[in-house]
Amino acid sequence: MPQTPFVRLDRASKVYRDGKREIVALDQVTLDITAGEWVAIVGPSGCGKSTLLNLIAGIDRPTSGRVIIAGTDLAQLDEEALARWRRSHVGIVFQFFQLLPTLTALENVQLPLVLAGHRNARQRARELLDRVGLAHRAHRLPSELSGGEQQRVAIARALANDPPLLLADEPTGNLDSASGETVLHLFHAAWHNGTTILLVTHDRDVAARAQRIVELRDGRVVADSASRVSPAR
Ligand code: ADP
Repeated sequence: MPQTPFVRLDRASKVYRDGKREIVALDQVTLDITAGEWVAIVGPSGCGKSTLLNLIAGIDRPTSGRVIIAGTDLAQLDEEALARWRRSHVGIVFQFFQLLPTLTALENVQLPLVLAGHRNARQRARELLDRVGLAHRAHRLPSELSGGEQQRVAIARALANDPPLLLADEPTGNLDSASGETVLHLFHAAWHNGTTILLVTHDRDVAARAQRIVELRDGRVVADSASRVSPAR
């Protein structure tokens, strides 16, 4: 029996205007992702991968079409409700980590917990750091950590509020292969625990870890390994 999709993009488009010129970053993308899937989004630079991720994260809104996640049409949420929704539903990991530079590793992980009103934020943050193997680095600033360590802190932060959806934009793009491997293991562990993962990558080897690979080109889905037949271009 087909499952209700956890993430649904229904003819979602994103058009940017640059003076008189229109840039179609996403062109009527329809995509269903089932809870528990690990999906890699691939395609050349500029094909719309980050735009797609930003729509699903509710960071950006489509120009037309709909983004529905766990039954919620994101268009129905105002900015404040969207921020609240994001905090409880989505964890995001970026290529350049985006940790707050003046906060320690522990404080960075603690922040989303505090914002969500978690009663035992410090303890939970410690447990999360332990889970990514960085309990011993808890009081270091990001600048005192390696890239791989910073990304592990960022993953701990992304998972802080137990989001059902983990989004990642080139999470291994700035790491050496050993650190990249460690990071991918953490994604695997989260996926194993039931987290749905959407991971944008240029790297075919990283994409191959996913269950499903969706390929974009010029803002359109040109291949989807979940379909038997690739959509016509
Ligand atoms: P990718 O992540 O695959 O490299 P993006 O989603 O970043 O692609 O970008 C898709 C297209 O949209 C590109 O042509 C890019 O230049 C354009 N674009 C992205 N963001 C903006 C923006 N804020 N303003 C104008 N054009 C943008």
